[in-house]
Amino acid sequence: MNEYDLIVVGSGPAGRRAAIQAAKLDKKVLVIEQGRRVGGVSVHTGTIPSKTLRETALNLSGWRERGFYGRAYRVKQEISAEDLRRRLLITLDHEVEVLEHQFARNRVQHIRGKASFAAPDTLEVLKEDNETIHVRGKSILLAVGTTPFRPDSIPFDGKTVVDSDELLEIDELPRSMVVIGAGVIGIEYATIFSALDTAVTVIDPKATILDFIDREIVEDFTYQLRDRNMKLLLGQKVDKVERLDDGKVLVTVDTGRKITTDMVLYAAGRTGATDTLKLAAAGLEADSRGRLKVNPETFETAVPGIYAAGDVVGFPSLASTSMEQGRVAARVAVGAIAKEPQKYFPYGIYAVPEISTCGLTEEEMKERGIPYECGIARFRETSRGHIMGLDTGLLKLIFSLKTRRLLGVHIVGEGATELVHIGQAVLNLKGTVEYFVENTFNYPTLAEAYKIAGLDAWNRMGELPKEAPVATAQRLDTTATSADEAAAPEKKKAASK
Ligand SMILES: Cc1cc2nc3c(=O)[nH]c(=O)nc-3n(C[C@H](O)[C@H](O)[C@H](O)COP(=O)(O)OP(=O)(O)OC[C@H]3O[C@@H](n4cnc5c(N)ncnc54)[C@H](O)[C@@H]3O)c2cc1C
Repeated sequence: MNEYDLIVVGSGPAGRRAAIQAAKLDKKVLVIEQGRRVGGVSVHTGTIPSKTLRETALNLSGWRERGFYGRAYRVKQEISAEDLRRRLLITLDHEVEVLEHQFARNRVQHIRGKASFAAPDTLEVLKEDNETIHVRGKSILLAVGTTPFRPDSIPFDGKTVVDSDELLEIDELPRSMVVIGAGVIGIEYATIFSALDTAVTVIDPKATILDFIDREIVEDFTYQLRDRNMKLLLGQKVDKVERLDDGKVLVTVDTGRKITTDMVLYAAGRTGATDTLKLAAAGLEADSRGRLKVNPETFETAVPGIYAAGDVVGFPSLASTSMEQGRVAARVAVGAIAKEPQKYFPYGIYAVPEISTCGLTEEEMKERGIPYECGIARFRETSRGHIMGLDTGLLKLIFSLKTRRLLGVHIVGEGATELVHIGQAVLNLKGTVEYFVENTFNYPTLAEAYKIAGLDAWNRMGELPKEAPVATAQRLDTTATSADEAAAPEKKKAASK
């Protein structure tokens, strides 16, 4: 039987980063992936395809230019599913090639097959040709990710009633679409299709959406969605989904409302892909949603030597955080020093418009009793915004009144997922409002909104107290022991992709 220092099950962001990290530390590493190609959900059905689709939709629809040329402006009049797929395939091929090259360069072995436990240190791999092999690992990392939740009551057919994986395979763009589930995936796809002129209705039993995002940002966002005629049926439950003889789908809502639509996207949750792992043979058990419990610092499960990382361990279920978890798990597994990932990480929602956020929301500031001041900038206040024809876009900064530190950055609008990193850096480096007031920003840029929002807050916060000259502002904050520092780090975001 072949033996390895680390065996990784799954080649998504967590598995890939873990494998390469262990290989860089001169360990013998094997990756087992059941999919036809490496890359995981992230490359094949999740992050990369949805973001490629978004980019294609925005480019072909001329969305970004409509501020200037009006709502009727289009780059391509008839956009087809084939237009969307073409760019997708090129992007995916490139991603897979980069990943395969990384594996080859770092001497990470990988085999195609379905892994399950034969013993706590041994995996059985069912290969494509039905051959079964056994491999043993000093450590094993489960980075198996999740699959879409598909309740029996929904008549999925892969064409008119689809989950988020199947959506990428559709032959025709629907003229109308009902999205069930207003989580991040549901909202992203709903707004992308709406930008393609599909009439979209979103239904969710909860009365509010994106509860982990600052309310002011969500209000601005939902206003924009309604302004372009998207229907948000919140606090309403779907009773029944029926496929009709004419190819349409009938959705009945608990209020009695009936909606006939071309397509239903069911995007109400995902389940950990642990059902075929034969966890019992390793002494492990998953929770009711297929997820595994780990030590949050080491990513080790209850069984020594078996680790889990990425979406299978639950919150925050992002490609970005999965990569970091995989890296930390691999370092712990092979006995290297591992530092915990930074506490403040950004959250990106690639809807149309984008939302991105890092740190505490205004609601969390209130809950924690931290005195604060907010600074707001609208993109239309920046020259870059004028050049780009932006009439929407909002950046909000939240500062502690005690320490003057930036504790939250929240953005909705063009480039939000890139812009957020400026705020993230200031936040993690314990910067204060003075950073934005005293520094020069490139002009004209959207980043200038930071300066405007900083000044907006600073005007109400007033000058630094005399006894604390400007140059000592940073020191003042790093030595502070107020409730801010104690409370700031971990944010219990209930959301996951
Ligand atoms: C539509 C959508 C959009 C998203 N957008 C974003 C985004 O914009 N930004 C972001 O950060 N995140 C996004 N995510 C989340 C992101 O894709 C996940 O957080 C990430 O893919 C999780 O990585 P992972 O390593 O845990 O596993 P995954 O990427 O889920 O990969 C797991 C792999 O394990 C393999 N596997 C499972 N069981 C076995 C087995 N028994 N044997 C062998 N192989 C097995 C699977 O085939 C799969 O390839 C999105 C997700 C979806 C669905």
